[in-house]
Amino acid sequence: MQVIMEKLRNIAILGSTGSIGRQTLDIMSEYPSLFCPWLLTANTSADLLITQARIHRPAHVVIADESLYATVRDALAGQSTEVHAGTATIAQLTAAPEVDTVVTAMVGYSGLESTIAAIEAGKDIALANKETLVVAGELITQLLAHSSSHVYPVDSEHGAFYQCLVGERHEDVNKLILTASGGPFRTLPREKLATVKASDALKHPNWSMGAKITIDSATMMNKGFEKLEAQWLFNISHDRIEIVVHPQSIVHSMVEFVDGSVKAQLGLPDMHLPIRYALGLPAGRLATNDRRMTIDDYAQLTFERPDFEKFPMLTLAFEAARRGGNAACVMNAANEIAVAAFLHDQIGFLDIHDTVARTMQTIEHIDSPTYNDLVATNAQARNYAERLVNNA
Ligand code: MG
Repeated sequence: MQVIMEKLRNIAILGSTGSIGRQTLDIMSEYPSLFCPWLLTANTSADLLITQARIHRPAHVVIADESLYATVRDALAGQSTEVHAGTATIAQLTAAPEVDTVVTAMVGYSGLESTIAAIEAGKDIALANKETLVVAGELITQLLAHSSSHVYPVDSEHGAFYQCLVGERHEDVNKLILTASGGPFRTLPREKLATVKASDALKHPNWSMGAKITIDSATMMNKGFEKLEAQWLFNISHDRIEIVVHPQSIVHSMVEFVDGSVKAQLGLPDMHLPIRYALGLPAGRLATNDRRMTIDDYAQLTFERPDFEKFPMLTLAFEAARRGGNAACVMNAANEIAVAAFLHDQIGFLDIHDTVARTMQTIEHIDSPTYNDLVATNAQARNYAERLVNNA
């Protein structure tokens, strides 16, 4: 049976040309009576934004890179879609009264400003931009406490936690068990990591994702980010979130309760599943004929402890969680610079960790950062990390 929504929901997809944005549009097209794409935004991918606007006919599109404005405007001259440019416009349109749900699918720190605008305007948020919570978890949590916004996680692990927690009391939760695929280098000997290239790291064994998150999976920084994300989303202390490597990526995560019972959510490793769940909330599940799991998919499920020596980025993320304040903002900024440099073959794989560790040792700690403190911390950490990668 089809879920019933009060009305057609207008969706703003921030980052519609990325991997999550494209899959969100796919899913929305399956349910034209439920969802209407009202706003699509892209950073620099003007050609794909134009194609999406011609197919999906949103009321508004924004290209963040202002130098591409004329290209997009001219290409869409014959249709009713309004074309805008610049990041400030993205935050403004996100808060427009027409918008019901905001899908935050942009990459990295760039998602922060418009996520805050969405919360201040009381929009529901399907959160795919985990860096927002990594950088500003405390601030976002405070803003949410005074807003009518609800946050529905799109990350598969957090979608799993959400589903396991439905109907449960917060005080009955003992710990969250966050599963990790282990990435493309799980079985590679540690000494070989020094010479791996971006093309090797981009071959994720299970999940098809954007370049930045795929490198974060190869270093396992992604799992460190997800621990911080879970801490803020579910109000659970970081020392009660355990990471377990599960190479098949069928168990998307688990929750252990005070009576020793463990609930898990399973599914194929396909981002359509968590995106569809997040879009359906709070009304219900969206029925689909997509491929189902069969017994062959889960005939053998294995679990192992993560190797902190081989993947020291995990230790950095644990340290950032312990230190709190602006520590995770510093870590995220340095990681963004280091991953971009690695993708351009400017630094080696192990230099990603060294860049982030050295930046975390250097930038001054702030205990309860304001928004302006976070903006300043992000800029300082990026500058410092850039100097490190340029001298590498
Ligand atoms: Mg994930």
